[in-house]
Amino acid sequence: MTRTDAASDRRVAVIGAGAVGLTAAHDLAERGVDVTVYERDTVAAASTGRAAGICYDAFADAVDARVAARAIERFRELSGHGAFTVAETPYVWFATEPGATADAIREQVAAMQRHGRAVEHADADALAAAVPALHTTDIVAAAIARDAAVVDTTAYARLIADRARDRGVEIRTHEPASVATDPVRVNGTAYDDVVVAAGAHTARVLADAGVPVPLKPYRVQALTADAPAAELPTVYDATAGYYVRPHPEGVLAGDGTEPVEADPDDYGRDGDDWFVDAMDDRLRDRFPGYEPAVERSWAGLCTATPDRDPLLGELRDGLYVAAGWQGHGFMRAPATGAALADDVLGGDGVPAFDPTRFDGTEQFAIAEGMIVE
Ligand SMILES: Cc1cc2nc3c(=O)[nH]c(=O)nc-3n(C[C@H](O)[C@H](O)[C@H](O)COP(=O)(O)OP(=O)(O)OC[C@H]3O[C@@H](n4cnc5c(N)ncnc54)[C@H](O)[C@@H]3O)c2cc1C
Repeated sequence: MTRTDAASDRRVAVIGAGAVGLTAAHDLAERGVDVTVYERDTVAAASTGRAAGICYDAFADAVDARVAARAIERFRELSGHGAFTVAETPYVWFATEPGATADAIREQVAAMQRHGRAVEHADADALAAAVPALHTTDIVAAAIARDAAVVDTTAYARLIADRARDRGVEIRTHEPASVATDPVRVNGTAYDDVVVAAGAHTARVLADAGVPVPLKPYRVQALTADAPAAELPTVYDATAGYYVRPHPEGVLAGDGTEPVEADPDDYGRDGDDWFVDAMDDRLRDRFPGYEPAVERSWAGLCTATPDRDPLLGELRDGLYVAAGWQGHGFMRAPATGAALADDVLGGDGVPAFDPTRFDGTEQFAIAEGMIVE
């Protein structure tokens, strides 16, 4: 859409102080907008603070690859500021059985290379040589993405929050927001635009404003374990559906998706016993000789959409949404937050993620976020 009024005259409210909302707020303020962030809890209290911090640009779709590449570039620009650092860490993903997943890995690599991504095939012997700690004899297809890293997600959110405040953003923590439309308002105060980046609560916030969106929260789990992680890449076993990354406590490991809609106000925040036991077994199998001692485990929410692409853009006049990341929301936040800020100020955003491609009444099943198909 076209904005004719100057950015300096605009007042924008952002709902949610996660990685996405804070990035959008920061970028709007940088362009002269008067921004207020409403956060029901504290900075990074929800999914952002629970995320694994795995970042890569290895996406098979051109638009995803472009967004992720811009995001990782921006993470690197910020590395070394405050407590935020980017640890360059290749991303290895593999299949252990012939079939659809192995075929998909081969096809993905070709597509990623066409998009200019630094991705290559790896065979089991090459992987064994590159990552001696990894059990590789059962691997039938594998790939390595070089443009990948791990980061502390809370450190990113705090850094962007600090920088946003420096640019005049008011971040109101412990202040739940209720949105109304025509004109857009938050807790009764009128704004030119309202951005709902409320993570797993996004559908609920918008439904209360009378605007349905097809978003479903689902639960995922992670843990840290004391295990020797030196020189490990991030590893994703696409057949079994779990990942392991190096972490200051040893390794951080997690699984994919519980394909059941979760209640964002009432879900189990601790890791389940079955998950801890299963991950313990997987770590011992995949890294022979490891004796992992689990330090802590937790669960958090991701958000699914019918087509596994996010909802990013204007829903109604002056009402914007940024959610539905299918488990890849943190790694793309520096770019999706920027795209949303640009959209609010009259730019194009990311047309492929236009939320009006749905009417909000779609029935759909939650699909595995990290799926390889
Ligand atoms: C265990 C786990 C591992 C993950 N690993 C990765 C990973 O390695 N890489 C990756 O890219 N992604 C990962 N993710 C996904 C990632 O966490 C999310 O996609 C991302 O953090 C979403 O950021 P966000 O800003 O959209 O949402 P959030 O971080 O959830 O922020 C939304 C904020 O809105 C606030 N809010 C909600 N309702 C209201 C209201 N009514 N009023 C005011 N405030 C409100 C919430 O309190 C919250 O702070 C993982 C997630 C989990 C749970």
